[in-house]
Amino acid sequence: MRIGTPKEIKNHEYRVGLTPAGVRELRSHGHEILIQKGAGLGIGLADAAYVAAGAEIVETAVELFARAEMVIKVKEPQPVECQMLRKGQVLFTYLHLAPDPKQTQGLVDSGCIAIAYETVTDGRGGLPLLAPMSEVAGRMSIQAGAHAMEKAQGGNGVLMGGVPGVEPANVVVIGGGVVGYNAARVAVGMGAKVTILDRSLPRLGWLDTVFEGRLKTLYSTADALETCLADADLVIGAVLVPGAAAPKLVTRAMLRHMKPGTVIVDVAIDQGGCFETSRATTHQNPTYVEEDIVHYCVANMPGGVARTSTFALTNATLPYAIALANKGYRKALIDDANLREGLNVHEGRVTYKAVAEVLGYDY
Ligand code: NAD
Repeated sequence: MRIGTPKEIKNHEYRVGLTPAGVRELRSHGHEILIQKGAGLGIGLADAAYVAAGAEIVETAVELFARAEMVIKVKEPQPVECQMLRKGQVLFTYLHLAPDPKQTQGLVDSGCIAIAYETVTDGRGGLPLLAPMSEVAGRMSIQAGAHAMEKAQGGNGVLMGGVPGVEPANVVVIGGGVVGYNAARVAVGMGAKVTILDRSLPRLGWLDTVFEGRLKTLYSTADALETCLADADLVIGAVLVPGAAAPKLVTRAMLRHMKPGTVIVDVAIDQGGCFETSRATTHQNPTYVEEDIVHYCVANMPGGVARTSTFALTNATLPYAIALANKGYRKALIDDANLREGLNVHEGRVTYKAVAEVLGYDY
């Protein structure tokens, strides 16, 4: 199969859909790989490395889209990219169609086969192509939070791990899933005092076992949350209710009982956020202060560490890309029910129920 990876064109997006290592793997299965000139340059992946792995560098996205049978990307296609997609062409990338009627119609009109990373499942209730980005965001949330706690950034001037003879920071993590676990891991590693709240008792049990007493687990109620918040230096919002907007667990009134200069990192902002006062921010301007609380609410945190995120993402996507290329998309989807969950648009029809329902397409 001829596979193409273009340079991402969304604002400040430096990730890339295939690495040179991925190119080499696909080549070893006999596939032909096209990479757009400069696609990996922003994260130190030079065209020469792609060529050494066996790729052909093409000058423009127009040429790449025209020649590729399958396009592998990172972000949802922008309008100009939707216009370049064609009937029968496979698109494998993040799509997030439910809140995006324009893109959905663009994909429907193109006649392409659009397989979304975010809806591929793993049979155990997990989302294997979303999890790597949650791992990145979770670990990064503590790094971002630690920086925001510095006085010059508006924080309360507490050092995460303290020093001998001085208390470390109190870190509260709301939601102990993939983001929460990874946040807790870094915070514990830095020497902070960590409390993690969740609604799932099995998950709390797992966290308790894994951390062997190095953090406190609490069942998440408004009461427990209020008590923790009053004493926190850094709060990580990491809840997810599948298929729904994030619940607003921390109200504006609750912020008024917190210490001035406390930092909140609302990782769940991409689902609306779990703090009443959260609104999405960017890497260029990541924080704002409300009620004396520093808010960090960057909606695409993994984009900030694009190099790590690219390797994390492509490690997870490559086996599926190989299956799609080796078997052809039809057989790959028939053989693997979890990959089939990724099919969102097929030759002019929306094939993912939740998207069809929200946007009013026949299903
Ligand atoms: P996950 O499903 O692994 O974990 C969510 C956890 O929240 C679960 O353990 C669940 O039991 C818990 N939960 C649900 N309701 C709760 C409540 N009322 N109180 C406490 N815990 C509750 O999800 P995840 O992969 O960790 O993702 C968490 C959030 O981070 C999602 O909204 C996701 O979209 C977001 N995210 C954002 C970015 C970003 O760049 N901002 C990146 C990756 C993920």
